[in-house]
Amino acid sequence: MNILVSGCLMGLSCRYDGKPKKNDTVLSLMKEHNLIPVCPEQLGGLMTPREPAERKGEGVFTKSGMDVTEAYLKGADEMLKLAKLYDCKVVIMKENSPSCGAGKIYDGTFTGKVTDGNGVATETLMEHGIMVIAESKVRDYFQLV
Ligand code: SF4
Repeated sequence: MNILVSGCLMGLSCRYDGKPKKNDTVLSLMKEHNLIPVCPEQLGGLMTPREPAERKGEGVFTKSGMDVTEAYLKGADEMLKLAKLYDCKVVIMKENSPSCGAGKIYDGTFTGKVTDGNGVATETLMEHGIMVIAESKVRDYFQLV
């Protein structure tokens, strides 16, 4: 099946610090599935590298306090378009990210602490009935040995 994947998990250098976060368990799924890398923050028009941002209430703010909520919402909409275009029922997302986080996200204090919640793109995809799997749940979900 076609599966959208947070680009950084596939080795793309799309993170705020310009570094990848390659996940070999996720990449092993390529033997049986079409993995499509996507970075909602880049799709929202943000630069790479960029200032880190975290969710705070309904908004997303950079460490210096700039409101980047619009870019995050745009990136989420673009990712949804791709999910529909490729008929993806499942997406695999990077944990803790203000865009891709699923179940846990950084808490808005830029101290590395996490709290319950979802990233903006994750939220949008879930609202449209798409199953979002956090990277640490991939092994269980796909019953990998
Ligand atoms: Fe990775 Fe998602 Fe952050 Fe892009 S927005 S760098 S895909 S976690």
